[in-house]
Amino acid sequence: MKAAVIQEIGTPLAIDDIPDPEPGLTDLILKVGACGICGTDLHMSENKDPNVGWRMMHPGCVMGHEFAGEVMEVGREAKQHWNPGDRVTALPWIGCGECPACQAGLGYRCPNVISRATPDLPGAYAEYCRVGARETIRLPGQVSFREGALVEPLAVGFNAVRRANLKPGDRVLIVGAGPVGLTVAMWCRFFGAQHIVVSDLVPARAQRSLALGATAIIDASAGDVPEQAADAAGGPPRVVFDCVGVPGSLQLVIDYAVPNAQIVVVGLCMAGDHLFPTKALVKELDISFAYVYHQEDFATVVHLLGEGRIDTGPLVSENVDLTAFPTAFEDLKQPNLQIKVMLELN
Ligand SMILES: [Zn+2]
Ligand SMILES: [Zn+2]
Repeated sequence: MKAAVIQEIGTPLAIDDIPDPEPGLTDLILKVGACGICGTDLHMSENKDPNVGWRMMHPGCVMGHEFAGEVMEVGREAKQHWNPGDRVTALPWIGCGECPACQAGLGYRCPNVISRATPDLPGAYAEYCRVGARETIRLPGQVSFREGALVEPLAVGFNAVRRANLKPGDRVLIVGAGPVGLTVAMWCRFFGAQHIVVSDLVPARAQRSLALGATAIIDASAGDVPEQAADAAGGPPRVVFDCVGVPGSLQLVIDYAVPNAQIVVVGLCMAGDHLFPTKALVKELDISFAYVYHQEDFATVVHLLGEGRIDTGPLVSENVDLTAFPTAFEDLKQPNLQIKVMLELN
């Protein structure tokens, strides 16, 4: 099959022929319908420092963990529940299914987890990919593959907003208007925040959040962010989300927060950072870290998409096919106004 393969860290992906995936007993093979490009992949594809990030990519690996597609092959022990032709999305790992973490829907903590974008489990920047039947969720008929491929990033935002213990009527400040910040804005709206202020250093990036749930935007390059946020929201935000995830961004949200505020860190900072804990301590801030999602979050997001209760239209800013994919992937490493660039295959 054809796949976008890492040739060498720091060089563009190349479309190569690699072996077709084979299903294990409890696996399914999908024909990929759509797969979104994630910032994590952009970062990992060029990171040469083993002390940065949480794992290194290797030449020959295929990334892509935000996908949906059609079942083509079904492993022998999965035949009771799955058939060729089923339309699905799946979590990006395969767990053992037996351990307490897997039982709790937290397969990424399984001691025997197989992570995607490893030699054992190529990702979905490819024509086909292998998924675990246990990690697979059926898509309702009206949910497109494109929407199915958005379930993963939507679940990231969903989990982050759950970590915020959001209350109806809350004022929130979202720092960073990348795809993570935008899905967080969507869910804050969905769960009843009253004022959703999004700040970004690039006003045109913040602007996009207005179509996805933000009630006001802030140009972080001009003027005092907490002051602007309080003006826009009629008072200081109770929750501040760090959706940037670079060294210094956690300190920034600590500085922005008022006493007793809650901070949720969801941007993935892949390098060492240092901060001034006393600044958080004297404000008695509650700081939570949000990592991926529970398996049931996937199912909830799929259900809500099926009912038409969330509009994901504004999240996808470009569609590309496999031939155009390596260039589209490289382009995202430069400053741009894309949100989700979606690989679509047919
Ligand atoms: Zn992702
Ligand atoms: Zn397990």
